[in-house]
Amino acid sequence: MDSYVKNIDHRRLGEELDLYSFYEEAPGCPFYHPKGIFLREYLIRRWRLLHQKNNYKEIISPQLMKEELWEKSGHSDLFSELMFYSSDGESKLALKPMSCPGAILFYKRKLKSYKDLPVRLCELGHVHRNEPSGARNGLLRARSFVQDDAHIFCSEKMVKDELQKILNLARELLASFGFKDFYFEISLRDYSKQGKYLGKDSMWIKLENILVELMEENDLSYVKKHGEAKFYGPSLDLHLKDSNGNNWQCSSVQIDFNLPKRFDVSFINEKGEKEIPILIHRALYGSLERFLGILVEHYEGVFPFAMSPIQFRIAPINQEQHSYAREVESKLEKMGFRVEVDDRSISFSKKVRNFYSSKEPYLIIVGKSEMEKGLISFRSRSGALKKEIDLSELLKDGGDSNHPLFGYHDES
Ligand SMILES: [Zn+2]
Repeated sequence: MDSYVKNIDHRRLGEELDLYSFYEEAPGCPFYHPKGIFLREYLIRRWRLLHQKNNYKEIISPQLMKEELWEKSGHSDLFSELMFYSSDGESKLALKPMSCPGAILFYKRKLKSYKDLPVRLCELGHVHRNEPSGARNGLLRARSFVQDDAHIFCSEKMVKDELQKILNLARELLASFGFKDFYFEISLRDYSKQGKYLGKDSMWIKLENILVELMEENDLSYVKKHGEAKFYGPSLDLHLKDSNGNNWQCSSVQIDFNLPKRFDVSFINEKGEKEIPILIHRALYGSLERFLGILVEHYEGVFPFAMSPIQFRIAPINQEQHSYAREVESKLEKMGFRVEVDDRSISFSKKVRNFYSSKEPYLIIVGKSEMEKGLISFRSRSGALKKEIDLSELLKDGGDSNHPLFGYHDES
């Protein structure tokens, strides 16, 4: 059953679970709430660990840069309708719609030799695009979003190896969220319009062949999209299937013969000559916003234990147990769990109803008897109920697939 039939909508779930919201005053720009920030940070943490492990250098390039930079990159010609402009009284400025020119400026700071390559620059680039109201769709297509971008500068010899590494990274990252069903689209030239494309014919043939070889060697399902390539290079898009059977375009890899030339990007090769590197642009999540929207729909708001903004909610049955509830909270927090005590003056049954609608993993119940014996009772969101056990017993065996200890270790 797809999400439309099941009425799964990340915008509705985001409001219900108190993750993020949208306001008329800021069309297409999300407001994040504390729990939404936790999820966003969770995506960033996974992303950053993976990039550190794989020898990327992280940079942050400015959001506001002079318009002449965008003229040089060609974005002002091709992209101006989607760009936001401003001025400081002296120069015309633009909010970046992409992070590529910033990464190129950074690469060019110092002369590079073949020994410095590949240069892998990654960036959580906060970009703005003037998406028209009809095209906007919550987090899935916003005006303000953070692309998990990377720009890889390499020689022709290195390109296949780099593309293989990108594929591995994308699959590792996405599989950690339970996505395993992928297919790829390779955008190739329209061979009847060869004059339209930039770069040597031999280079196009080589790279188009490499993309196909990678699909075959990794035993991946793919389709060739003839005539879909941009004028500056072939590309690869990863599509995934979520738990509701929806297909989402996620990671993308774009080979670029254009920007290195426009910006006179080079390195000194083994023969001591100046050579233009190949530039690969790529994103794994796509954007933090879009991927979070996909995850909210994929999990239907029932996040795995390790990803849950609140892992244990503690509900004292009445006021007399408030301090005992705080004791249990502090024990769990010391172990690194995320805990919230529901000490509002509302009925206990309302606390239980609120717990189920929050979709959080566990509700720890502390009443008079639990307090006297130094024990706890708990309910899990899947319906498991255990009465008067030691806290350590809950941590040993949660009784459902969201095992607390798994979550605890996964947080490192
Ligand atoms: Zn780029």
